[in-house]
Parts: sequence; structure tokens; C-alpha cells
Amino acid sequence: MPTLSEVRKTSELVDRAYKFAEKTHRGQKRQTGESYFSHVEATAECLAGWGLDETTIAAGLLHDVIEDTPVTDDDVRKIFGQEVKRLVDGVTKLGTVKYRGDKTQADNLRKLILAMAEDLRVILIKLADRLHNMETLWALPPDKRERVAVETLEIYTPLAYRLGMQGLSGQLQDLAFPYAYPDEYKWLVENIKERYEERETYLKKLKPKVERALEENNIEVSSIDFRAKRYASLYKKLLKNNMDIDKIHDLVAFRIIVKDVESCYGTLGVIHNLWPPLPGKIKDYIATPKPNGYRSLHTTVLGPDEKIIEFQIRTEEMHYEAENGIAASWAYEESKDTKAYRKGRAARANVNEAAWVEQLRSWQKDFADPNEFIDAFKIDFLTDSIFAITPKGEVVDLPLGATPVDFAYHIHSDIGSHCAGAKVNGKIVPLDYKLESTDVVEIITQKNKKPSASWLDFVVTSNAKGHIRNALHKDSKDNLITTRKQMIELKIVVENRVGILRDVSNIISRSHVNIVTLTSAPRERDSYHVIKALCDTDNKNKILKIMLKLKGLKAVKEIDYRFA
Ligand code: MN
Repeated sequence: MPTLSEVRKTSELVDRAYKFAEKTHRGQKRQTGESYFSHVEATAECLAGWGLDETTIAAGLLHDVIEDTPVTDDDVRKIFGQEVKRLVDGVTKLGTVKYRGDKTQADNLRKLILAMAEDLRVILIKLADRLHNMETLWALPPDKRERVAVETLEIYTPLAYRLGMQGLSGQLQDLAFPYAYPDEYKWLVENIKERYEERETYLKKLKPKVERALEENNIEVSSIDFRAKRYASLYKKLLKNNMDIDKIHDLVAFRIIVKDVESCYGTLGVIHNLWPPLPGKIKDYIATPKPNGYRSLHTTVLGPDEKIIEFQIRTEEMHYEAENGIAASWAYEESKDTKAYRKGRAARANVNEAAWVEQLRSWQKDFADPNEFIDAFKIDFLTDSIFAITPKGEVVDLPLGATPVDFAYHIHSDIGSHCAGAKVNGKIVPLDYKLESTDVVEIITQKNKKPSASWLDFVVTSNAKGHIRNALHKDSKDNLITTRKQMIELKIVVENRVGILRDVSNIISRSHVNIVTLTSAPRERDSYHVIKALCDTDNKNKILKIMLKLKGLKAVKEIDYRFA
């Protein structure tokens, strides 16, 4: 992809915007001490690197002139044309998007989403802007740093992922995580670093064997390297696995890039010939791409010394698209012969983008209250997702933890409200069954069936929740629905010492969780004591965080939890 200075040579528009921005921002400084212009330059450099069109790059250079200089949007239109003005306007109107708290902030995020639905390039500029702001985050005061970092992790990182831009999403995550979660970051660095190195050494030793086997089978390889799991996503995965690092097998994975699709499947065969694959772990995202467009083959095998190894296999094109996502579909094939930087849109952009924007538009119509809208957006759009498949082969994108009832409501509210049972991959499952990617789901409906209050205990999409609540409300207006709140019991095995009970209860209450009962008793088979703390919360993530903190106590040997 071209650099900004290369684009300036072929695009008169970009060159003009560059000089204009440099002049209008002259004298302004950022908190880092650098010139303000260096920020807009970095933003535009990033957009050029994604291979975007000249209009977007010019708008990237001008993205802060309306807000921070005397230049008006009308000036921008007169000098750079209507399209550049529209993009700059879009970015300016977004301002700093904040999502926490009051209505105006929620309104801001709503604006962001609507702007995105109108022209995705606005959000691409915003993402490039955010990337540079994150790179220079160290210069801000600590409280502001944390706020920006949390916002980046909760909004921009998943948004980039959602747009298929895994490269950017990962970069933003790496930059934000240490500021947003300093304690957790420190814990990871201290506890995981060695594991990373150990894993990499192990894989490096196996690399020649993989190379040789592929060569013997005449598979042309572009590259074999190792993908280390990022701290932020590792942390998320650890939370899901009770902070047990032994359960994380893809700390470092092999990534093999080959010439064509045929070679991908060929490589898979070669790997399985070397080491036995683990059942149920082969994922064919080439035949069934993820909803964000991601394509690859994944497999997990049992390697030497009984160690589990993960492989990702893809072509160069798939790799490029996995890193750049929607930006890749906007990008232009670079051509040295072309005198002028291309002005038109790449034809294939429309396909991907249209589907995404359509989804977004139809979805956002359902919400009138901005706060509800933001919550729903965060849950239904930005959380980790899985995808289930209808019996007809259509892909349905759902948040992690979604159940057949969520699936049913996603298909149609009528199917949801008459849902009587479900089959997953041909077998009857309970309605609170947690769906997994590539599950084929069939909903069994009954005419007289009605939504049940108990469904609220397990559905995760706001879409399903809303419909169920409405139906229950209609059913009996004065019949108050009380959802039973669960509690969580922590079981902590400790080496008994003076003050240990106090230390444990301090950690729990400092996390704003009330302890209902706290008991301690010696364990029969050894000299350890077992502390049981019944906590007044049903928030598993909160408990996992507490467990992480408790693990910091030297006396703590084992921790477990259960819903009580
Ligand atoms: Mn900016």
C-alpha cells in the first residue's frame, strides 16, 4: 500500500489538503509537545496505508480543521468539494464519542452509528484518528487516559473487529489494555510471559518439520510464523476459564500462509498426517466465513509431548482481508502506471458494505430510547459473537452465550414467541442451551405456546429480552415479574494464618460485593482450611475478577465458585 507522500505525488487533492492543514494548524501543539499537524498527518498516513481513496485521505488531513481552527465547513466545501466536506463534517459532528452516563452522551454514540450507516469512510477516519490518539495516550493525565482507554476497548476495538479489521482491532487493544486494566495487565505480564516464551520455543522447534512435510507434498508456502495471543483477548479468555492458564492452548499458534485455496486444504491434510487433530476443533471458515468476513482454516492437534497446537491456514488474500476487513474492500489495487491516484470506488466494496449497513439500519430502527439503544448496541453488536446456521443454510450472527430462544427471536418475533423446543445439529436441546458457532439450529414452534418469564434468566440478546418482557406485560399487566436473583459461592482453600479471613473478606468487599455468609473450617485430608463466602451477586465476571485478586494472596491455594 502507498505511503502518504507517494499519494501526494499522484493526487493533487491530497497534496492540496496536506498543505492547507499544515498551514491552518501552524503554531498549535499537542500535549505530547509535537505539532498538532503531526496528528492529522499520522491519521492520513494510516488511511493511505489501508489503501483508501483520495477523498478519504484528504478528509483525514482536514478532520480537525473545523473544530480546532477558524476554518468553516463552508470553506472546506468551496476549496475541496462537497464529498470531502461531507466526510469532514461527519467526523467533526461525532466529536468525542462517550457512551457512559447521560442522555447526550448516548445521543453522541447514536450519531456515530448513524453516520456510519451513511458513509463507512467516516468511521474509518475516526478509527485512524483514534489509533494515533491511543499511540500518544501517555501524554494525557491519568484519569483521562483511563477513560479514553476503556472507551477504546468497549467501543472502537469491537467496532474495528466487527468491520473485519483484525489488525487494527488488535493494535487498539494492545494500546488500551494496560491503561484500562493496569492491575490485570501487571498480573498477566508477571504470570504469562514465561509461558509465551516456552510456547514459542516449542513451536519453533517444530517449524522445520512442518516445512519439510509441506515441501514433500509440493505445497508452496508463502510464510509460516507464530501468532501470539494478545493480552486483552487472553485476559478475556482467562476470565471464561476461571483464570486457569493451562486451559489456554492457543497462547501462541502457527499461522501458515499459502498460495491458493486448494493448498489450504492440502496443508490441513499434511498437518493431520503429522499429528492427530482433536475432534470438533477443525473450523472451516473458508466454506463458512465468519459474519465479519473472516476466512481461514483452523485446526488443533496433539503435538509431541502431548502438547496441544493450534494452526491457522489461509491464503495471502484472506490474510490481507482478515487484517484490513472493510478497508480492504474500499482499497484500490495499486498500479504504478496510473498517473493519478484513483478516484473511483472499488467495485467489490459495495457487496460487503451494503450487507453490513443494511443490517445496522434495520436493527437500529427498533429502539426509541437512546440509552436502551446504546446498551443494545453494545450487547448485540459489539460483544464477541458466534454464528449459528438455519436449516436453510443462512448464517445468523449472535452474541456469545446466545440460546435457541435468542436465535428464534432473531429469525422472527413470531417464531420467538411461539418457540416450544429446539434441535441443534439434529438433536433436541433444552431452550437454555448455549449455542456454538456452526451449530445448525431448528426451532420447533407451537401455535398456543407463549413466552415464559423463566426465559429472561438465560436469553442474552436485548431483542429477545424486549419481546419477552412485552409479551409478559401484555399477558398480565398487574402481575409483577420478579426475576429470581442468583448468588455465587466462592470456595477458597487456604493455608491457615492469622488474618487470612479478614484479607479475603476485604478483597471481596473492596470489589463492591456484599458477603452474605462467610465460614472457615479445616479440611480433613490436609492442614488447609476451606473458606466459603456466599456473595450477593450474580455477576460472574465480577467474581472472576475477585478470584484473580484472591490469587494474589500467598496463602490461597485453590479457588472455585458455584452458583448458589
Ligand atoms: Mn483528531
